[in-house]
Amino acid sequence: MLDVIKLLPDSVANQIAAGEVIQRPASAVKELMENSLDAGATQIDLVVKDAGKSLIMVVDNGCGMSETDARLCFERHATSKISKAEDLFSIRTMGFRGEALASIAAIAQVELKTRRKEDEVGVKIVNEGSVVKEQTLAPMAVGTTFTIKNLFFNVPARRNFLKSPQAEMRHVVEEFTRVTLMNPEMGFTLTSDGKELYHLYPGNLKQRIMGLFGNNYDGKLLAVNQETDRVSIHGYIVKAEFAKKTRGEQYFFVNKRFIKHPYLHHAIENAFMEMIPKDSFPGYFLDIEVDPSDIDVNIHPTKTEVNFLDVKLVYAILHAAVRKAIGQNNLSPLIDFDEPTNLGIDFGEVVKSSNPIVQPKVPIDPTYNPFRQKRSDPGDWRQLYGERTDIKATPENFVVETPEDPEQKSHYVQLNQSFIITTVKSGVLVIDQHLAHFRILFEKFLKEMENDSGHSQQELFPQPFTLNSNDASILREMLPELQRLGFVLEQVNATTFMINGTPAELSGGNPAGLLEKMLDNYKINRTDLQLDRKLGMAKTMASQLSIKSQTALSELEMQNIADQLFGCSVAEIAPDGKKIYTIITIDELTSKLS
Ligand code: ADP
Ligand code: MG
Repeated sequence: MLDVIKLLPDSVANQIAAGEVIQRPASAVKELMENSLDAGATQIDLVVKDAGKSLIMVVDNGCGMSETDARLCFERHATSKISKAEDLFSIRTMGFRGEALASIAAIAQVELKTRRKEDEVGVKIVNEGSVVKEQTLAPMAVGTTFTIKNLFFNVPARRNFLKSPQAEMRHVVEEFTRVTLMNPEMGFTLTSDGKELYHLYPGNLKQRIMGLFGNNYDGKLLAVNQETDRVSIHGYIVKAEFAKKTRGEQYFFVNKRFIKHPYLHHAIENAFMEMIPKDSFPGYFLDIEVDPSDIDVNIHPTKTEVNFLDVKLVYAILHAAVRKAIGQNNLSPLIDFDEPTNLGIDFGEVVKSSNPIVQPKVPIDPTYNPFRQKRSDPGDWRQLYGERTDIKATPENFVVETPEDPEQKSHYVQLNQSFIITTVKSGVLVIDQHLAHFRILFEKFLKEMENDSGHSQQELFPQPFTLNSNDASILREMLPELQRLGFVLEQVNATTFMINGTPAELSGGNPAGLLEKMLDNYKINRTDLQLDRKLGMAKTMASQLSIKSQTALSELEMQNIADQLFGCSVAEIAPDGKKIYTIITIDELTSKLS
């Protein structure tokens, strides 16, 4: 019998390897740009034709290569970045496998021009299908230019497998975006079929985001900065109100390398939970820095997957970092409306003088007053709210009304004992009473925990609250926050607490039942993160104590809910992600009735 095993020629082996590394023009773009970064370039220009199918050119001003290196770089496992196995655990460069150029050369016509600063002239090498076709001297500036022509010229199956030019171009732009985002201090351009699509100037990350996604991102971003000894997280998240209906800008990087990580994505989604609608996606641009030995990037050839040694820790820190950023934005004190004259509003414009002054009739229900907010009324949101639905309910947007304004007589009616209906300038406003009150109480409780300002009402007949010893120790953990919310609990033995006082909002309710619910939810979402604990408790309290659907409300109660809702930092979305209100515009009504 003859032996049957043969060693494949290098050119074939490279072609096979190429299938893993280079799937489409965008993969070559990524590899070339990363090489330029590794070479210390500060300016990288990318030129493509036909979405990279006929031409990809990357011009850099990096360190360049010697003549020998310029020939060697096309060999498989030729890399200047590691020389021994241990190096794998401390990689800081983008590439290290020494496969990319060998792969590209196996399936394309490649021209390399490169010059180091110590060399007087550069060298030009043409390599086609892993064969060096030409080598000459080339006068050029210091740096490297790779020109890739006719990608997959010798692999028709691959070539035919490519998507439409538009789809391939989207991939190219996406790779370009990922590389440029994490290197804002470097300059980049992208030119496609003779048209310059991006011209990115050196700057900071925020400027880079604006350069890539538009100047209107300026006001949409919240900075995230979190340093711990094991993990640092830096970057931006997109404010909740700009969350998109489509998976928009979601960029995770680990040590500046783009990754996809559904589990960590969940940390962000979770952190945004009370803020964005269920069908929207949060945006983020975040770099997670860890010691290279704490990750394994080598598990996937295209390297968008990363294994963390301690992914739970990263999850927790990421979650906390995003929470903090959101919290700093949303819990900032609002302007105090006690002094409307400070707002610089010309009252003459607002007052409609000739209308007779009518004292509004206010039906008062003396048994019900859940609202004891100290913050004064946010002004009459009705005037502006609804005119442009993109206007946020921030105090600056409210026009302060004088009592003689006819809008003051606005009426509220209840539909199905569940919806509050009133008119705004642009149409009919319909508010879900339960969701609105859920949001109002949620923000109120959060503030109380921040400021230690929860109102307590003393129990005339303190009740004992007995738990098993495990739950009792968990309740002890919750005590500081419970106290801030207005609970006065006194531990009398290992498993029993006396309920001496309860939050004012509970009036008449069942304190033990509420405590049990809080304990249950706390156990489900148990976390070491203080801010999360607060959010979780505020959410449970608010959900338990908010007005339910199918509850009759007086007009004053409805007005209170509307006023307080539009004084919230997030008026649109309930803490469970549901939309709180909608406006049926006059235009919509007109078209319906025509
Ligand atoms: P890797 O990046 O994994 O080392 P590549 O095949 O991408 O492997 O590149 C092989 C080698 O070629 C690199 O290690 C580097 O030494 C050299 N090289 C590639 N591109 C450039 C460039 N733009 N400037 C300078 N050197 C480069
Ligand atoms: Mg490389």
